[in-house]
Amino acid sequence: MKQIIVTGGAGFIGSHLIDQLLAQGNHVSCIDNLQTGSRENIEHHMQSEKFTLIEQDIINPLPAFEHIDEIYNLACAASPVHYQADPIHTFKTSVIGALNVLELAKQHNAKVLQASTSEVYGDPLVHPQPESYLGHVNPIGIRSCYDEGKRGAETVFFDYARQYNTKIKVIRIFNTYGPRMDPKDGRVVSNFIMQALKGEPLTIFGDGKQSRSFCYVNDLVDGIVKMMNSKEEVQGPINLGNPHEFTMLELAEQVVAKTASGSPLRFHPLPSDDPKQRQPIIDKAKELLNWEPTIQLNQGLDKTINYFRTKL
Ligand code: NAD
Ligand code: UDP
Repeated sequence: MKQIIVTGGAGFIGSHLIDQLLAQGNHVSCIDNLQTGSRENIEHHMQSEKFTLIEQDIINPLPAFEHIDEIYNLACAASPVHYQADPIHTFKTSVIGALNVLELAKQHNAKVLQASTSEVYGDPLVHPQPESYLGHVNPIGIRSCYDEGKRGAETVFFDYARQYNTKIKVIRIFNTYGPRMDPKDGRVVSNFIMQALKGEPLTIFGDGKQSRSFCYVNDLVDGIVKMMNSKEEVQGPINLGNPHEFTMLELAEQVVAKTASGSPLRFHPLPSDDPKQRQPIIDKAKELLNWEPTIQLNQGLDKTINYFRTKL
């Protein structure tokens, strides 16, 4: 049984990760300030002796632990609506939070994994995106608290590895969806499904021709755990995502068809710096982690729609 810390474990991805880590027999301490996560996501573990919830913000000094084997650092609001609501806090979470987590890992000689993002590529000029692409990020735009914050986090991870031999793992997660997304979280999959189920117009930003590649959450969590368990020399960064690319119009059409909804499409202005295209190259994940997604959008949307029906 390993002693594992998951920051951001009450959130969408973190709670699925905790399900898997506990099912494998580990002890998990979840550090979360419940900013965008919820107790409901982890309610089913609250009575378990192997699970502890520590309500705390990772920008503040972290509590002492007797022993830690592994830390997964997922704490950070991920939806543009939420991370832009308090951009200074987002930046602090990304950079000061990462430094606090790295210090804890250093003290315990623990392995530490950083949940980075495809946003480090910004509005990419290279398509699809390999890990070697250095990105095209606006450093002063409304997305930069998150994009530059996550880039800064990658920097301090690699500096800790070089300066202190900290055992790091960095993954770049592409758009992920599935049950336990917050219905009000503002991301495109949750917005479209909730709007379709309520018979409201689907809010298409811009002309809807921008693309994203959507990964089902269970596939992603398998990749995250494989990364943590990879050979010590595998530090990353490694892209984790589903390479099937869709436009937002294609996503909207699928959601309307699957929900048999009468919702019309309504067009709204495109937010600034919204990336026009995004698709991961996952050759590294295939080769080094023996990982690739198995659940395609058609199937994953059905599971997600069923979940959101229970939230109405
Ligand atoms: P989420 O908002 O559902 O979860 C984030 C969790 O972190 C929440 O429980 C929130 O309360 C907690 N949190 C935020 N700031 C904190 C702080 N300062 N201290 C303590 N806890 C804090 O988002 P998610 O989709 O589950 O994303 C998890 C991680 O994966 C994030 O780091 C995000 O950047 C990364 N990621 C997600 C996606 C995606 O498509 N979902 C894509 C790329 C990267
Ligand atoms: N989007 C949209 N309607 C919505 C929410 C988002 O058309 O109600 C678009 C958004 O402009 C972006 C894409 O969908 O081009 C993905 O947005 P999301 O916020 O889910 O993720 P991110 O932009 O971080 O990839």
